[in-house]
Amino acid sequence: ISLPPMISPLQPRLDRSMSSLTIPPPACMLRPLEVPFRYLFGPGPSNVPPRILAAGARPIIGHLHPEMYEIMNDIKKGIQYAFQTQNNMTIAMSGSGHAAMECAIFNTVEPGESVLVAVNGIWGERVAEIAERMGASVHTMVKAPGGVFTNEEIEKALAKHKPVLFFLTHGESSAGLAHPVDGIGDLCRKHNTLFLVDTVASLGAAPIFMDQQNIDILYTGSQKALNAPPGTAPISFNERACQKMFTRKTKPVSYLLDMSHLSNYWGNDGKPARLYHHTGPVSGFFALRESLAILAETGLEESWKHHKEVAEYLWTGLEDLGLKLFIREKDLRLPSVTTIAIPQGYNWREILQYIMKHHQMEMTGGLGPSINMVIRVGLMGYNCQKRNADLALAALADALRNCKKSKA
Ligand code: PMP
Repeated sequence: ISLPPMISPLQPRLDRSMSSLTIPPPACMLRPLEVPFRYLFGPGPSNVPPRILAAGARPIIGHLHPEMYEIMNDIKKGIQYAFQTQNNMTIAMSGSGHAAMECAIFNTVEPGESVLVAVNGIWGERVAEIAERMGASVHTMVKAPGGVFTNEEIEKALAKHKPVLFFLTHGESSAGLAHPVDGIGDLCRKHNTLFLVDTVASLGAAPIFMDQQNIDILYTGSQKALNAPPGTAPISFNERACQKMFTRKTKPVSYLLDMSHLSNYWGNDGKPARLYHHTGPVSGFFALRESLAILAETGLEESWKHHKEVAEYLWTGLEDLGLKLFIREKDLRLPSVTTIAIPQGYNWREILQYIMKHHQMEMTGGLGPSINMVIRVGLMGYNCQKRNADLALAALADALRNCKKSKA
């Protein structure tokens, strides 16, 4: 009989605890973290006020501690105020605006179902791709960046494609457009469609009324007018949306974004125990709570009014510099992100590089279909001040003087 070879406990083994590293500590990790000061006057993230930074720097507690649940309950109330909704199914995603986009689509749409997307900038394009990836049958209504869809056009497309969900961007940040929303929720109800609206770039800066406007699913991001660091994203579902997503036949493609788990994690499902699903971004939630507290103290209407006033001041200053605003009609301009048509003969990249180098200021170019069309200036929340508009205007004036009209 041959026995298997015995491994003697005395046999020498490789000692992995010492000097066997082949990759030394990287030199960069032995240097301190360096973060420059920047004026974040692009489409986001925006500068975070010290009060919110301080909230995010508070000591960590466990994400399932009762105090954390209280903080999450407060966040829910803050979001209900910011969205103007009484929806119980209101949470903040552990993730950026894209997490909310995916959460909305993955939970309310099943493979093969029809989805209608209004595309007038990059955000419709993104949502169409997200829906396509999870196997939806996607139909798009397409306009040039900044284009506005009439309610008649929307109703015609709803009747034609019979979608389970219609997507519209309220604050189209790639185009600088604040799209009208009134009446669309009613049309969606008439056609048995859920109405999904993106307010990542507009919440707190331009009016939106989730309940009154019959919006079924609404989401935003933390890093724009809310002024929290990037990484959390409020989202809310009304009863109609819950009915659809909790009676589905298939499981959503994402475990992380599954609302049946997230609703329990946020204490929305009526069950006595809130169970572990994933580890929420504790510091991010502290900061988000503080940003929602600032919005509640300021008042939504005051915040909308203030953004409009500062935006109008900026628009006048831009026109005084001889610049043309990309969205012609004032009432359709997004107060948080202004788009400037690239001045003739200039190289927009050169202008932005000049402003970054000489003014430590971020402004950005277009995104997706608006690339090569616009320069974007964002003054949101904490950054939304006339003195910041003056700084932005001075930087642009300086760039226009110094970036000669030769290399367009
Ligand atoms: N929608 C809109 C209107 C946006 O402006 C953005 C961010 N620029 C997003 C969605 C995506 O958000 P995030 O980058 O936080 O994922």
